[in-house]
Amino acid sequence: MDVRISIETTFDNGEKRTHQLDGISRPYRVTCPDGIGLRLEDGKRVVEQIQRAILCDQVEEIIRESRVCPDCASVRAIHDYRTRDLDTLFGRVRVKAARLRRCSCDARSAAMPGGPISPLAYFFPDRATPELQRLHAELGSRHSFREAARLMKSFLPCHPPHHTTVRDRLGRVAAGLEKSRRASGDPAEALPKGGLTVFLDGAHIRCRPEYQQRHLDLVVGKIESRNMCRRFGLVANATASPGSRMREELSDFGWKPGRLLTVISDGELALPNLIRNAMGGDGQVKHILDWWHISMRIRHVEAAVQGLVQIPGFTGIPVLFQRPAKSLRWWLWHGRARVAETYLKGLMHDCTRLAEEPLAVRTAAARVQARCGTLYTYLANNMESLVDYGRRYRNGLPISSSRAEGSVDDIANARMGKRRRMRWSPKGAHRVAVTRAAVLDGRLTVANRKRAA
Ligand SMILES: [Zn+2]
Repeated sequence: MDVRISIETTFDNGEKRTHQLDGISRPYRVTCPDGIGLRLEDGKRVVEQIQRAILCDQVEEIIRESRVCPDCASVRAIHDYRTRDLDTLFGRVRVKAARLRRCSCDARSAAMPGGPISPLAYFFPDRATPELQRLHAELGSRHSFREAARLMKSFLPCHPPHHTTVRDRLGRVAAGLEKSRRASGDPAEALPKGGLTVFLDGAHIRCRPEYQQRHLDLVVGKIESRNMCRRFGLVANATASPGSRMREELSDFGWKPGRLLTVISDGELALPNLIRNAMGGDGQVKHILDWWHISMRIRHVEAAVQGLVQIPGFTGIPVLFQRPAKSLRWWLWHGRARVAETYLKGLMHDCTRLAEEPLAVRTAAARVQARCGTLYTYLANNMESLVDYGRRYRNGLPISSSRAEGSVDDIANARMGKRRRMRWSPKGAHRVAVTRAAVLDGRLTVANRKRAA
């Protein structure tokens, strides 16, 4: 059989035009299983032809309509024709784009004669459709740039992109996302009284050799209110002022000066300080130390104590060591850090009294002391950030930054992790992090649709 495909255009002024596209031929005698239905190659060819027909008609209409001056309704003269290659999802189309002379009614042109006007420049600012740019950005944030280019090439009849094109378009989309932040939707009214919680975590990614450092620090996190959440990622080196970037991110989510902000992170001071800088003094920041990190260190102490009392030559009273180790967790969970510190000191003191014991016991005691010391320093450094975790937990409030750690995997490790064997420049990593966060949140389409409108 033979399939004939034709499409009909009706212009706004009522004029009609028919385009005959290449048909599909499936002679019965030579049909093999591979020739059943529309194949990928046929589909790509047909879609490309449809796109070409639509786009050429549309360009024609745009030029015809924009020849009429919007101010005095006289017809503007055509200055010249230029050939333009327009990139779309469904192929690169070469069109003849007219440029128009300015109308004599335009007062500016009399005072300051401008060049000819190009009506197409408004519709194709980058000679590529916004949809194509978004897809480049999305694929580039999910896969390597080369892989993204390959994927596009295998499924779409678009002009095979070079991986640097994917990279550059991702950069442009990332810049657009940062610019359109303030303009995008304002959910401030919907914000409940509980305020915002920011979960923060850091990730290390490999840095390119010319930047004279081994790793780049990527700050990744999640902003949450009771019913909404939003991910973000940034490289502090790549932005002139990470504080103000963070502030934009927060005010975009509905934060207003003076409002309380809860920050949950591990013991690294740089992370809550980033938020404090972002606030710049007009907002309270309550930093809470992540419970999981405390719990892990308590676990180390418990394990070391258990190891000590189980040594055959141990002559002390096991309960004297086990009980303080057990109650540490209870006191810290209920926000009684001072009591926990006393227990820690006691435990360390008890260990020093085992100096006369056999070597195995002394070694185990030294291990208990070292782990108690680690926990003690950790608590002492973060004394201000310890809270009554039990009460928060019972009230259904978050006590751990595990949600930020999820974002680290999503934003940083999946695309830029060490296993990917890629090296990054600060700017490149920042752009990918920004785009990837937007893709994961589903913000890419919304923000760009607004930008295009
Ligand atoms: Zn005019």
